[in-house]
Amino acid sequence: MHRAVLFLILCSLAEFALQAQPASALMADPTVRAALDAAKRNEAHFIDEQIRVCEIPAPPFHEEARGLEFKRLFEQAGLKDVRIDKAGNVIGVRPGLATHPNLLFQAHLDTVFPEGTDVKVKRNGDILAAPGIADDCRGLAVMLGVIRALDEAKVQTPGTITFVADTGEEGLGDLRGTKELFNVTLKGQIDKFVSVDDVGLRVTNVGVGSYRYRATFKGPGGHSFGAFGLANPIQAMGRAIAKIDEFEVPTTPKTTFNVGRVGGGTSVNSIPFEGWMEVDMRSSDKDSLETIHAKYKRAVQQAVDEENKRWKGRGPVSVDNALVGYRPAGSTPADSAIVTTAMEVTKIFNPNVTTGEGSTDSNVPMNLGIPAVTIGAGGEGTANHSLDETFNTKDSYLGTQRALLLAVALAR
Ligand SMILES: [Zn+2]
Repeated sequence: MHRAVLFLILCSLAEFALQAQPASALMADPTVRAALDAAKRNEAHFIDEQIRVCEIPAPPFHEEARGLEFKRLFEQAGLKDVRIDKAGNVIGVRPGLATHPNLLFQAHLDTVFPEGTDVKVKRNGDILAAPGIADDCRGLAVMLGVIRALDEAKVQTPGTITFVADTGEEGLGDLRGTKELFNVTLKGQIDKFVSVDDVGLRVTNVGVGSYRYRATFKGPGGHSFGAFGLANPIQAMGRAIAKIDEFEVPTTPKTTFNVGRVGGGTSVNSIPFEGWMEVDMRSSDKDSLETIHAKYKRAVQQAVDEENKRWKGRGPVSVDNALVGYRPAGSTPADSAIVTTAMEVTKIFNPNVTTGEGSTDSNVPMNLGIPAVTIGAGGEGTANHSLDETFNTKDSYLGTQRALLLAVALAR
C-alpha cells in the first residue's frame, strides 16, 4: 500500500477514535472532572445570575436590553469575537484547537410575556417564582455556568464552541434568531447544535414544525335582504372550514390541523364584507407538513371559487391568505452520534431519561440536516409560559454538569 494512503487511513482512524471517545472516558479526564466540580461549586452564583438576568425584561421582539447584558457577560467571560447580529443574537466564541467541528451551544433570550409584565423574582427556599424564570432564564444561566466552568478548569476542546444567546424562539418569534444564525450570520460554519431550553434533563431530537395562517375572506357586503344574491365571505370561509375538517392525516408521524379562531361580520342583517380564521398545522415530518400545507391552500382557494360559482360571480369574494407563522420540521435520528452521545451523557446523571419531541430552536438545524438536540437545563419547574412560572433549584447543578459534559463530548 502506498505510504501516503496508509498514513491517511491511520489519521482518519485516530480521528475516529477521538470522536468516538465515550462520555465515561471523558469523565476520567482530570480537566473535565475539574470543570464538573467547578460547575457544582459555582451553581449558587449562577442561580443568582438566573434571577438577575430574569429581571431584565425580554418581551417578544424586544430582547435588546437582556441581549446587551449578555454581550457584557460574554466579554467578561473571555469569549472571543463577541458581537450582536442583525436579529439580535449575541454571539461569543470559545476557540478550540481547530475551528471545526464547530458546536453551536445556545439558550434563548426571549420570553412569551408582553412589555410591562412584572418580572421581579420571588424566592422562597429552593423555589424561584417569576415569568420566564425557567423558560429560558434557566438555560441562559446554565450556558454562563458552562462557560465559567470550562474556563476555570482550562478545558481545551479539539473543536470550537460558539455560544449564543438567541432571539425569537417563542411564539410568533418563529425561531427568527436561529433562522438568522443558520441562514446568514453563521451560515455554513456550524457542524453540531445544542440548545438548552427550560428545565429537567430531557433530550429532544424531534422538531415539530408548523404553518400558521390568518385567512381573510372579503367581498363588497351589503343588506341581507336588499343585496341578497352576493357571494358571502363568511359562507366562503364556512366552505373552507368544512373542507379542512375532512383532511386525513397520518397518526405517525403525528400531523395535526386546527381552525383556532374565527371572526368577522357586521350585523345579523348584513352580508359581511369580511370574515377571518386562524389555522395551525403541525408535523414533525417535513413531507407530511408540506402535504397538509398544500391541501390547506387548495381548500381555501376551492372554497372561494365554489362560493363565487354558487352566486354566479356576484360579489365576488376573494381571500387574503396570510402566513403568520412558520417553524420548519425535522428530526435527528435516534441512532445518530449526537443523540447517542447526548443519551449516554444524560444517563450518567439520570438513567431514566428518554428522547422526545418539541418545537424549539433545534427545528432549524434539524430541517437543514445538521445534527441537533435540545436539552433541559436541570432543576424542575411548573407553569411555564404563565405568570406563576416557578423553578426549583434543588440539585439543579446536575443540569449544568450534564450540559457541560455534553458540550465537551461534542466539541470534538
Ligand atoms: Zn424555551
